[in-house]
Amino acid sequence: MRPEPAWAGGWLTIDLGAVVANWRALQDRVAPAECAAVVKADAYGLGVERVAPALAAAGCRSFFVAHLGEGVQLRPLLPRGCAIHVLNGIPPGADAAFAAHRLLPVLNSLEQVSGWQALAAAQGRRLPAALQVDTGMSRFGLAPEEVRAALAASASIDIRLLMSHLGCADEPEHPANESQLGRFAEVASLLPGTPSSLAASSGLFLGARYHREMVRPGAALYGVPPNAARPNPMRPVVRLQARVAQLRAVPEGAWVGYGAGYTARRPSRIATLGVGYADGFLRAGGDAGAASLPGGGPPLPIVGRISMDSLAVDATALPDAALREGDALDLIGPHRPLEDAARAAGTIGYELLTSLGHRYHRHYLPEHGEPG
Ligand SMILES: *Cc1c(COP(=O)(O)O)cnc(C)c1O
Repeated sequence: MRPEPAWAGGWLTIDLGAVVANWRALQDRVAPAECAAVVKADAYGLGVERVAPALAAAGCRSFFVAHLGEGVQLRPLLPRGCAIHVLNGIPPGADAAFAAHRLLPVLNSLEQVSGWQALAAAQGRRLPAALQVDTGMSRFGLAPEEVRAALAASASIDIRLLMSHLGCADEPEHPANESQLGRFAEVASLLPGTPSSLAASSGLFLGARYHREMVRPGAALYGVPPNAARPNPMRPVVRLQARVAQLRAVPEGAWVGYGAGYTARRPSRIATLGVGYADGFLRAGGDAGAASLPGGGPPLPIVGRISMDSLAVDATALPDAALREGDALDLIGPHRPLEDAARAAGTIGYELLTSLGHRYHRHYLPEHGEPG
């Protein structure tokens, strides 16, 4: 199989139909709660310019990014009615930029509450925001005991959402989940009638009590399994293929790659693929991962150290005619799930996705119509 263009070192295929199907499946699962979409970090590396409009067209109305700059980039990509929340809060002096771009800051401290309140008062209007409370993760948000003070100091703030974030939701039995839910419910009772949101991808699989009025998945939309111990209910979104840049026959005893990190134990056929750690194919992966033919077949182990622009696989298991220079091999695909590639690289699907980088030739499958 030879994808176009033939000169690419690697091809990244992103299935927007699968992203939309994943969002719809989660929205159905949590209804009547609202399913928002987290599109921070360039939609987890997959391209916010393509992913966010596809989700908006499917009916998604609430979006989350991490930084002000991401919100500024996202605003013109979405219909006017869509809400954009900025998770990391308001950096000092940035209040006016949030208002100018119609972004909802997630207020994470009393200082941010009073800054936003001061801007609203100065502009003589109510300004919308989300309020975050820390229920145990010690990362972002007001301490629960600060919430009364925040409410007292926010007369001109239209609090559209109360939120918090779970730290251990990928471990359903972890006692922190119940404890965070309990603390969150206590704080939410101080703001009756205000929608609240606690769960992200893993949390929304903990049951309806965690759904509140809104859930905020990111990773699950992009095909990452919400619980590593269970079968993945999400559709895969990403396929990563690498071009065979060179094929060589090497004798027993030949070594491969930097540091002579691998030695052939038998006469071998080594394929050099045009994807390396500069493409986010992490060097720590070493010889634990594998490639496969696009149609399946035996795993072809990655051998030797991963270089910046290439990696080597041992293709000896294939008949010679099955692989030629210029052909594509899958590094992530139907026979090499994202999670397996991530595990081999000593990491998780989240990190592998957000590392993938921009050197691949990107190909988007449309959100409507047959994947092909
Ligand atoms: C990143 C993030 C999310 C999305 O998390 P996933 O595990 O990718 O679903 C939701 N909420 C907050 C506060 C986040 O930082």
